[in-house]
Amino acid sequence: MRPPCRKNRRCAVKIRFDRDLIEAAYLSAGPREDLDREELYDLRDERERNEAFGAHHARWFRKAGFEARLLGAFAEWPRVGENCEEAVLRRVRNPADEFAELFRNREGLSRVGVGLRASRLTDGSYLPFLRHELAHLDDMFDPGFGYPGEVPRDPSPAAQLRRERYRILWDLRGDSRLQRRFPDAPDFSKALARHRSEFERVFSFMDLAEREALFDEITSETSAPHARLWEVACDPRHLRGRESVEAPGAECPLCRFSTFQWASNEARETAAPAIRNEFPDWRPEHGCCERCAEVYAAVRSSAIPPTVLLPSRLSQSSRVLLQ
Ligand SMILES: [Zn+2]
Ligand SMILES: [Zn+2]
Repeated sequence: MRPPCRKNRRCAVKIRFDRDLIEAAYLSAGPREDLDREELYDLRDERERNEAFGAHHARWFRKAGFEARLLGAFAEWPRVGENCEEAVLRRVRNPADEFAELFRNREGLSRVGVGLRASRLTDGSYLPFLRHELAHLDDMFDPGFGYPGEVPRDPSPAAQLRRERYRILWDLRGDSRLQRRFPDAPDFSKALARHRSEFERVFSFMDLAEREALFDEITSETSAPHARLWEVACDPRHLRGRESVEAPGAECPLCRFSTFQWASNEARETAAPAIRNEFPDWRPEHGCCERCAEVYAAVRSSAIPPTVLLPSRLSQSSRVLLQ
């Protein structure tokens, strides 16, 4: 689809929508009479029929105003538009997969991938969601924020906790800026309340006065840069004694899903060489879920890189490293 923001010379980003997202948006608008679409079932050739359905849904997507609304959401962030070559919005089904990622190739060109549930298009929640994600990307392109280009991956529990702390601080900072920028949107005060309770829990090692001062600093208009957020995230208090977190329901350091089935020592040792291909700092004592141990053990025997279907997160994506 041709983005209308091409008219704007400064907005270089090309925005694409995956077919699955468009079709799901069409279907989630509910059953209705659509004779033009009915006719497409008569097309004998399967490929031709699929293409015709795709084109029909795309026309509907544009006519119903979804394309314009999504392009409008990107247009609110000119810095993202100026720094990105392409953004792809694709459909995801799981809320945990809804986030924006930044990929940089060797030539230094940036692409953005955004996972979005189709229901957000029809219930309107795509806008606060995109604002939150694009605010993160805007920070990443802002020299004043100073987001690092690449960070070594460290799957140890202490590093996981640092990343979790960082994520909460960055979300607090981002949503308080969004609340100031869009004072009429109720979503950001709700999100702030949620991040605040996470903040209270994760920084409970600070006394109340210290925590309050930190909260005010992070949410203030002066907006702490990356280096300050990272400094707070690395506070040594409560980081020690985190060498093993194989509690039921704790996060697997590799796939980041909560797990109740931790891999046995033997399974970890078997999978370790393949795991270390992707996570050089991982050690068997850091643990992993049974599923990861199985997947990596299988990868090892078939010698196919585990991320064969994914862009290489290790080298290209900086977002996943700290979020
Ligand atoms: Zn966030
Ligand atoms: Zn796992």
